[in-house]
Amino acid sequence: PSGAEPATKIVINLERLQQLPAEKVGPLARYAATIQSQRGDYNGKVLSIRTEDLRSLAIIYDMTPGELTEQLIDWGVLPPEARPAKED
Ligand code: C2E
Ligand code: C2E
Repeated sequence: PSGAEPATKIVINLERLQQLPAEKVGPLARYAATIQSQRGDYNGKVLSIRTEDLRSLAIIYDMTPGELTEQLIDWGVLPPEARPAKED
């Protein structure tokens, strides 16, 4: 099917992230916590990150950015709307 396209707007659901086992989401959870710390922003239920950060995370997870987007949607960390519409 379709998919495997990188997300265009990356808005992480922090509550969902905390519910998932650390062995799955550990690197992502640490990355998100670091960004929160750098911004001094601890109050949100969601965290917007840079497109560039998705590329870095994809390297860490040994996936393409599009595959990682699909994985994050599967986990409920990204909403299905994060999946870019295919133009075909
Ligand atoms: P920085 O990259 O030098 O950005 C300095 C400030 O510019 C940020 O302070 C923020 O107020 C603003 N800024 C930069 N890019 C954007 C953007 O795309 N959207 C908005 N709305 N504002 C932007 P802030 O938020 O206190 O962040 C401090 C530092 O923490 C940043 O310095 C950067 O080094 C790091 N950081 C924060 N958020 C992220 C992130 O999502 N990804 C990465 N890789 N680093 C981040
Ligand atoms: P946003 O603030 O709506 O910014 C949308 C896009 O505009 C960013 O996508 C980036 O391409 C560009 N942009 C905005 N501000 C700056 C800036 O100061 N410097 C540069 N070089 N580009 C800028 P991007 O990078 O994918 O970020 C997506 C969203 O992540 C941002 O949406 C914002 O909500 C968040 N974000 C990213 N970096 C920071 C940051 O350093 N601090 C904070 N507070 N939020 C950030």
